[in-house]
Amino acid sequence: MSKKRWTIMLILILIISMLSGCGQSTSTVKEQNVLPFDNQKQESKTNQLEVCFIDCGQGDAILIKTPVGEYMLVDGGKVEEGKNISDFLRSQGVEQLAVVVGTHPHSDHIGGLAEVIKTFPVQKVYLPRVTHNTAAFEALLNAIKGKNLKISTARQGVEISLSGVEARFIAPVGEGYDNLNNYSAVIRLDYGDNSFILTGDAEEFSEKEMLGSGEKLNADVLKVGHHGSSSSTCPDFVRAVSPQYAVIMCGADNDYGHPHRETLTTLDTAGVKVYRTDLHGTINMKSDGQNININNTTGDFNQTSKSALKPEQNNGYIGNKNSLKFHRSNCKSLPIEKNRVYIETRDEAIARGFTPCGNCQP
Ligand SMILES: [Zn+2]
Ligand SMILES: [Zn+2]
Repeated sequence: MSKKRWTIMLILILIISMLSGCGQSTSTVKEQNVLPFDNQKQESKTNQLEVCFIDCGQGDAILIKTPVGEYMLVDGGKVEEGKNISDFLRSQGVEQLAVVVGTHPHSDHIGGLAEVIKTFPVQKVYLPRVTHNTAAFEALLNAIKGKNLKISTARQGVEISLSGVEARFIAPVGEGYDNLNNYSAVIRLDYGDNSFILTGDAEEFSEKEMLGSGEKLNADVLKVGHHGSSSSTCPDFVRAVSPQYAVIMCGADNDYGHPHRETLTTLDTAGVKVYRTDLHGTINMKSDGQNININNTTGDFNQTSKSALKPEQNNGYIGNKNSLKFHRSNCKSLPIEKNRVYIETRDEAIARGFTPCGNCQP
């Protein structure tokens, strides 16, 4: 072999070994693409705004990744979800959080944040100016203190320190509310032509204040207030926001009957397409500044596909481990996967102590 050929061979061998040294087989990359966020670190700048509505049962947790790769977490679900949320963030490539927002002190919103704040470096924390005498809220304050962080006040007109998008609070507009939900920090995100409004548990009173505040309300996506309760999402507010998509975050089979029929009717009448974490699992939206792409994973954290267990293929009944209700396999209020028990016959369901769902009446 000539010297020239040898040199070419050596270069080829070198290139091949460098490529395989990256440690990612094609299949790994494919798997990663199924996940809501593109988490290959060298590509943290995606030129996309990503908003991920994390299925955490009856509670809120929303992860935002800006086009320059900064992360903001809005709420962290209940206390017992803190570990799941932290694991989920890590699985998405989150190493630090530029911003954490606790919309209001109810434990289905701030419960899991203490664990998240202990787990990740955090640059800035925003809370509305109100306290609440609960262990969950105290744990949050202790976690913030433990990291030597200051609390910045979330209120209307405050710009959020986040790079790559415009982010501001459009509520709470006032103070001294009777109802803690109306203290909810409401966030408006703008990226190019696309915009999102995330409302925490803001109810009609806060919605009316936002309507009177002069804030720009028109948006593509509305995370509706208070898990779809009829005390939020009043028709005037929906008209002003005029969203293309609405997201309702609630737990399957929850004790409050969320989402309420009135809310679904209001959104339906306004022609809004509704996504629900109780039905669709974690919902991920990606905006390139002009269009919004939507994906969802039904069910649990860290699971990318549940298609192998589609209820239609079971043809039996589905019980809820927690509520001990059982449903027809096509019921609209099926529990999330991890709470499901598959049962063949109605008699078996009754014998095992399950009671029939009021909606599908199995
Ligand atoms: Zn609340
Ligand atoms: Zn809530």
